[in-house]
Amino acid sequence: RKYQKFGLIIGATGIVGNSLAEILPLHDTPGGPWKVYGVARRPRPQWNADYPMEYIQCDITDPEETQSKLSKLQDLTHIFYVTWANCTTEAENCEINGKMFTNVLNAVIPNAPNLQHICLQTGRKHYMGPFEEWGKGIGSHNAPFYEDLPRLNDQPNFYYTLEDILFKEVAKKEGLTWSVHRPGLVLGFSPYSMMNILASLCVYAAICKHEGEPFKFPGTKEAWNSYNDVSDADLIAEHHIWAAVDPIAKNEAFNICNGDVFKWKHFWKILAEQFDVENGGLQEDESRKSLGEMMKDKGPVWDAIVQEKELLTTKLEEVGGWWFVDFVLSIEGTLDIMNKSKEHGFLGFRNSKSSLVSWIDKLKCSKIVP
Ligand code: NDP
Repeated sequence: RKYQKFGLIIGATGIVGNSLAEILPLHDTPGGPWKVYGVARRPRPQWNADYPMEYIQCDITDPEETQSKLSKLQDLTHIFYVTWANCTTEAENCEINGKMFTNVLNAVIPNAPNLQHICLQTGRKHYMGPFEEWGKGIGSHNAPFYEDLPRLNDQPNFYYTLEDILFKEVAKKEGLTWSVHRPGLVLGFSPYSMMNILASLCVYAAICKHEGEPFKFPGTKEAWNSYNDVSDADLIAEHHIWAAVDPIAKNEAFNICNGDVFKWKHFWKILAEQFDVENGGLQEDESRKSLGEMMKDKGPVWDAIVQEKELLTTKLEEVGGWWFVDFVLSIEGTLDIMNKSKEHGFLGFRNSKSSLVSWIDKLKCSKIVP
């Protein structure tokens, strides 16, 4: 097959990486046919194995390993950077994530003479500050967020570190362009993601069903009642590909969300229906527990569900990102604005309710949840 473009997905089993790995090789993907390489640390999982992608097991925190495995890819034209490391403090996040990105760019840029474009995924913490600052009432912009808002310069933020590395490296090579993609909360499939709220909630719902307990909302009244938006992982992948091939999107940062709004109180009902579990709703009294607390001893229960329902073998701590759900459901919803993408010609959108149901279907069909 004669390829037009050669794409490297860093984080090819993650929540957006998996969508990119599925969509990029399709025959009608813009700019194609694409030859696709995908990087992650763990062996290639069964649910990602069918995509026509060359899978490279590599730990990008290791500069030697990254150099030896990625410098060989001399045909590359595009990089899709959809990974991160979750460290204890934001200062460590800046250091480690900066090193990871640098290792990749040092291996690829000098060795891939046809490299044209780098897509970097960051997110809404660009406007809200790092997780460790949330709830302290400092340093967040007021939603709705738009791309021209200035950086929150009074605090470290690994997204700024990544952008600065990107700008510096791209400037060294003539003709090399970049785009930055800032989703909000992502709805997608990957059971290997560090932040997959939907998979985590599906696992929680399945445990409630198994134990005959109501499916209680672990979050606050502000989160339950406020408007929110989400970003469908396939839509984000389409946004990356658009920026990779359309000249108008070069050297710009863009928000990317579905373009509609929802409330958790409405989504909760859908989730309860999908798992045939009693909707326990919002817990307004002091008995409300965080999801992390409710799930702390449920490893054996999940193992029993996996066995009884003949699911793919997963460990509870792998599929349940409780800390992330507890973060997201503790705060009032936030919204961003998609005008800049639209004004630049990206008109993609998703119906968030359909997106929710279709990702639940995919998690069920792939035997991740019952
Ligand atoms: P995920 O956590 O879903 O996926 C990470 C991917 O990278 C996996 O394939 C993982 O596989 C791989 N990976 C992790 N560490 C390494 C490493 N050292 N070497 C090689 N591969 C590695 O990523 P997201 O898509 O969630 O995150 C990408 C960006 O999007 C981040 O900046 C994040 O903050 C942002 N974002 C995410 C949101 C979400 O809801 N998920 C919301 C908004 C922004 P393996 O572990 O096997 O290596």
